[in-house]
Amino acid sequence: MNEPELRIDLDDFAANLTVVRAHVAPAQLMLIVKDDAYGHGLEQIIRRAVVEGIGWFGAFDVRESLRARRAAGPRARVFSWLTVGRDQIADALSSDIDLGVGDAEFLDDVAAVAGASEETARVHLKIDTGLHRNGIRPEDWPMVVDRARAFERAGRIRVVGVWSHLAEASDQEDDAARGIFDEAVRAAEDAGFALEVRHLAASAASFARPQFRYDLVRVGAFCYGVRSAGGPAEADLGVRPVATLLAPVTHVADHAVSIGVGALHGLPSSLARHAVLAPAQGRIAVEDIGPFHTTVSPWPHAAVGEDVTVFGPDAASATDLAETIGTVGEEILVRVSPLVPRVYRGE
Ligand SMILES: *Cc1c(COP(=O)(O)O)cnc(C)c1O
Repeated sequence: MNEPELRIDLDDFAANLTVVRAHVAPAQLMLIVKDDAYGHGLEQIIRRAVVEGIGWFGAFDVRESLRARRAAGPRARVFSWLTVGRDQIADALSSDIDLGVGDAEFLDDVAAVAGASEETARVHLKIDTGLHRNGIRPEDWPMVVDRARAFERAGRIRVVGVWSHLAEASDQEDDAARGIFDEAVRAAEDAGFALEVRHLAASAASFARPQFRYDLVRVGAFCYGVRSAGGPAEADLGVRPVATLLAPVTHVADHAVSIGVGALHGLPSSLARHAVLAPAQGRIAVEDIGPFHTTVSPWPHAAVGEDVTVFGPDAASATDLAETIGTVGEEILVRVSPLVPRVYRGE
């Protein structure tokens, strides 16, 4: 090997899906595929998930949800939650995307576009349960529910879901959020919506807190085998990292070895002097990260052309590296540049 490579093991991914689904059942699993499926490649990931029987996909923006629709086929449900303009709403509706709606103006836009194109938009209303990122404030909820009900009667939308996202900062905050969520669901049901799905939890809460699962959980990280920073180990969760970043040894000197992966391939340069790689060769300290090469501590009989595992299931995980610089494993993964070829196993 003479360039870095991101190996994606789709059989390990499928095994993670089985574990996650068993854990959250009878709630269904929505596989989150934002950021090109956390850097794993949206198309390959979705195609395998469809084979494994996953019926819901969550993509952040409309562009990615259209890619998800093409990869998943016409029967899957694809959910997109970024608030966008009318052109993109039209694109989403013509591809049968479920829309997350977190403000009143966006609701008006969705209804207007649906009316103009004689379609019925499937809407999931988002209550702001404390994250204050996006979402209808509890004080505005009754007004928005009334508006949505009027649009539903007019045939422009169908409210099929109520959802929110948790801060996951503390159990108490999440409990308070769940109280607000339950009230919002009750108000929506009292208004007459026939809700198909209530969804609140992502990876951590869906595993740790059964009462947060409702009908559907939106899980990304754990399906890719990425544990939470500071959280339980992969083995305790029963999942395995799906991606392995490998880099070739490019130069060997007495006091240092160079490997062919660097900042322009997506390695955060702050990993230098913090991270330790833990491949078969032992423990290798990361000393300096240049644009295309990284200098690491030497090991006996290091040879040019040999592969070093930067992260992966049999070495340090992406989250292990992330913890040394105070970030999360997802960030290490989504930063792996498109310059690094993805090589799939089990396709
Ligand atoms: C990213 C995201 C998720 C999935 O979070 P994980 O911790 O990766 O499982 C779920 N819902 C929303 C709204 C998200 O942005």
